[in-house]
Amino acid sequence: AAKRRSTNSYQFYTDAMRQQMLLRMELETILHQALENQWFQVYYQPRVNIRSGQIVGMEALLRLPYNGAFISPTEFIPIAEETGLILPIGKWVLQTACKQNKQWQLKGLRPLRVSVNLSPNQFSQKNLLRQIEEILMETGLAPEWLELEITESAFMNKGAATLNVFASLRQMGVHISIDDFGTGYSSLGYLKRFEIDCLKIDKTFVDEIGRNRKDSNLADAIIRMGKSLNMTIVAEGVATQAQLTFLQESNCDQVQGYIFSPPVPPAEFELLVNKENLLNEIG
Ligand code: C2E
Ligand code: MG
Ligand code: MG
Ligand code: MG
Repeated sequence: AAKRRSTNSYQFYTDAMRQQMLLRMELETILHQALENQWFQVYYQPRVNIRSGQIVGMEALLRLPYNGAFISPTEFIPIAEETGLILPIGKWVLQTACKQNKQWQLKGLRPLRVSVNLSPNQFSQKNLLRQIEEILMETGLAPEWLELEITESAFMNKGAATLNVFASLRQMGVHISIDDFGTGYSSLGYLKRFEIDCLKIDKTFVDEIGRNRKDSNLADAIIRMGKSLNMTIVAEGVATQAQLTFLQESNCDQVQGYIFSPPVPPAEFELLVNKENLLNEIG
């Protein structure tokens, strides 16, 4: 690449770093445009009861179409978080998911709980509670049909204020789950203090089931610990029958993964819900 180092400051950046900065700036611009022009979409991935094969809920996952492909949330969410854009984007996801869920209920679909990912910055917003109350009010969705997914890092080292937000949300009837459980720093004590409804075992543990004894045992231990605290346990990223069987034997409650379905657009999700038992659909 051409090296234009007209000022001293440039010398501190390698080409790779410059490349990365350009990419970040480009992504930031795209995020602004996406918000303004409503490019974002929400896809839904079913959460399936491991015994009945029934869909019991769905995770709302943000999609950003761009130039005929999708930019992965793992790429753009971190930038949205750093730039603060996650606040308007996150609010839009909440509104869209609640509205969609209410529409499905009005249409006569079996009522399902929709879970929405909340980034740490969103969770720290002063007005989060009011925002959620307003969205539920506007959309007419009953609080029990909304779940918020947060990662361990979102409330580590947080004090009484966080505790209060949790308590208020729980009081309203909104469910709370810990996403990517086992990957973050966690002092298990918080699980009890915060009265969390649900643990989602991270895909990295599920991936190793049947391959790696230690990680299989870890998945099993997480399930047992969570169940002893009366939590619902969801395994993420389940892709094979062997993993499913292991999780069934370990008494896991729900699974989410490609074995049943990837995240799909709303119209496709409706077709899935109308199936009685997804266990019968596995090839
Ligand atoms: P997550 O919340 O842990 O979501 C699960 C991710 O695992 C999704 O990736 C989903 O498509 C993927 N997945 C589920 N089952 C399988 C499987 O069987 N195999 C494989 N290979 N993947 C599977 P996705 O949609 O790319 O999202 C990635 C992450 O981006 C999410 O991880 C979440 O942390 C973040 N994210 C997505 N949407 C939002 C959002 O609206 N707000 C925030 N704050 N973060 C979001
Ligand atoms: Mg999630
Ligand atoms: Mg996860
Ligand atoms: Mg994740």
